[in-house]
Amino acid sequence: MKKGLVLFLFLELFFTGCSSSSSPSSLSKGEYIFRHHDESLVQVEPIAPLKRAPYPWEENRQSHYPKITKDFFRCRGSSLNPVNLFQKEKEIVRFYDCGGVQKHGLPLRDQKEFIYPILIDLLNYIQTGTGKRVVITCGHCCPEHNAYLDPSRANQASKHMLGAEVDFYVQGLEEQPDHIVDLILAYYRKEPKYQGKKEFQEFKRYEQENRTLRVPPWYNKEIFVKLYRKNEGRDSDNRHPYPYVSIQVRYDWDRDEQVTYSWNKAFRNFHRR
Ligand SMILES: [Zn+2]
Repeated sequence: MKKGLVLFLFLELFFTGCSSSSSPSSLSKGEYIFRHHDESLVQVEPIAPLKRAPYPWEENRQSHYPKITKDFFRCRGSSLNPVNLFQKEKEIVRFYDCGGVQKHGLPLRDQKEFIYPILIDLLNYIQTGTGKRVVITCGHCCPEHNAYLDPSRANQASKHMLGAEVDFYVQGLEEQPDHIVDLILAYYRKEPKYQGKKEFQEFKRYEQENRTLRVPPWYNKEIFVKLYRKNEGRDSDNRHPYPYVSIQVRYDWDRDEQVTYSWNKAFRNFHRR
């Protein structure tokens, strides 16, 4: 006990001795704060919460959705899809789906995967103009997936196989496909590269006697636009309950030529992994 007490006194002396020469109280200069006797009565403005700067997607709703690229057009086929039985004359033919994106890529042009740029531009224009998401239900179809969707003879020259056709609807505007068609027509009126070109700016209607679609399609030199009502144009890629719009490319702007189906373009010209 005694030893502990001595040690305590020693430490006490040591520390006070050390600090006495440079004590903060002796060095610092004080400053008096004068207060008025009724200062507490001064009205203070209530604190307003600081308004934070908007995030980019709040400033501009359109930028909320990713820009559409050719990757959005990849074949929707899947080896998990059930076999499709098709009555061909007297026999039943079985159609299996392709392996999808695991097995093959997009059509090739100059050794690169290729989708006609006008389709990508139009869909981005619609997405920006509406501020709503464009949902592609069918972009590129490889020949196997195309036959699986619809093995009928009429569908075997589909431009979906060339990357020259797209089926889509717009989320939030599912029931207003006419508005989407208006936007497509407006694109050709506004876009500078079509200025003064009547064959692009003016659309005609495709009136056919035994037409399968209730709404006659629109067309100009470059594209053909179809509007499918709720009970039209259904296949396993378009199983949704909405009307949808289909754009088909008729004219290749870059090569200045008609876009036509050929077996080589459809079967030989898409990248297999
Ligand atoms: Zn495929």
